[in-house]
Amino acid sequence: MHTYIPSKQYLDKKTILVTGAGDGIGKQAALHYAKFGATVILLGKTVAKLEKVYDEIINNGGNEPAIVPLDLKGATAKHYRDMANTITDQFGYLDGLLHNASVLGHLGPFEQISEQDWQNVFQVNVTSQFLMTQALLPALKKAPQSSVIFTTSSVGLKGRAYWGPYSISKFATQGMMQILADEFDNSNIRCNSINPGGTKTAMRAKAFPAENADNLKTPEEIMPLYLYLMDNDTSTENGQTFEAQPK
Ligand code: NAP
Repeated sequence: MHTYIPSKQYLDKKTILVTGAGDGIGKQAALHYAKFGATVILLGKTVAKLEKVYDEIINNGGNEPAIVPLDLKGATAKHYRDMANTITDQFGYLDGLLHNASVLGHLGPFEQISEQDWQNVFQVNVTSQFLMTQALLPALKKAPQSSVIFTTSSVGLKGRAYWGPYSISKFATQGMMQILADEFDNSNIRCNSINPGGTKTAMRAKAFPAENADNLKTPEEIMPLYLYLMDNDTSTENGQTFEAQPK
C-alpha cells in the first residue's frame, strides 16, 4: 500500500470530500483523487488557496471540483447539515471523506495550556470532525461503499511532553475513528486513520522551525497510502491506523 499505484480513473464517478484541501497534505490528496477520476469537494478556510487547487484540477483535465469555504473554528452543526444536504442534492451520496484539516495550537508545558488554546484546538481538530461526520453519515450510507479517513499523528498514538492540546486532540481523533469503525463494522462504511509522519508542510515548519525541511518527505511522496485507502474495491481495512512512512 505504500507503493500502491492505482489503475487510471479508479475513482471515476466517485465524490470525495477533503478538509484542509488548500494546502499541505490535503492539497496533494485533493489533486491526486482528482487525477484518478474523482469529483473532489474542496473544503478549507482560505478561499484563495482553494481556488488555486480548483484551477490546478481543471488545468490537469480533472472533473470540476466543488469549493466549500468553511472555517472549522466557527462552524456549527447547522453548517454541516446544510453542507450535507447540498452534497446529497448535487451528487446523491458521498464515496469518500478525508478528515485532514487541523491546527497545531501552542506547544508548551501542560501547566501553561490556556483554556482559549484548548478550546480552539478541540473545536477545529475534534468537534468539527464529530459534527461533520455525523451530518455526512446519511450521504456515506447511501454510497455503494464509502471510506472515511482520519488523520492522526505520532503524538496521537503516544503522548509526548509539550505537545498539549494537539496531541490530546489526535488521541480523541483515534477514539472517534475506532468507535465509528466498530459501529459500522460489516457495513458499507470503512473508517481508518493515517499518521503522515514528518512531512514538509507549513504545520511541520511551525512545530520544528530549526530542522532542515529538505530531509522530510513531501506530501506528494506519501500519497500512495491516501490513494489505497480510498480504493473501495481493493482496500477492505476497517478500524486500522496506518503509517504513511513506516520505519
Ligand atoms: P498544513 O500545511 O498546516 O495544512 C492544514 C490545512 O488545514 C490547511 O489547508 C488549512 O487551511 C486547514 N485548516 C486549518 N485550520 C482550519 C480551519 N479552522 N478551518 C478550515 N480549514 C482549516 O498542515 P499539514 O501538515 O498538511 O497537516 C495535514 C494533517 O496532517 C493535519 O491533520 C496534521 O495534524 C497531520 N499531520 C501532519 C504532519 C506533518 O509532518 N506535516 C505530521 C503528522 C500529522 P488554511 O491554509 O486555509 O489555513
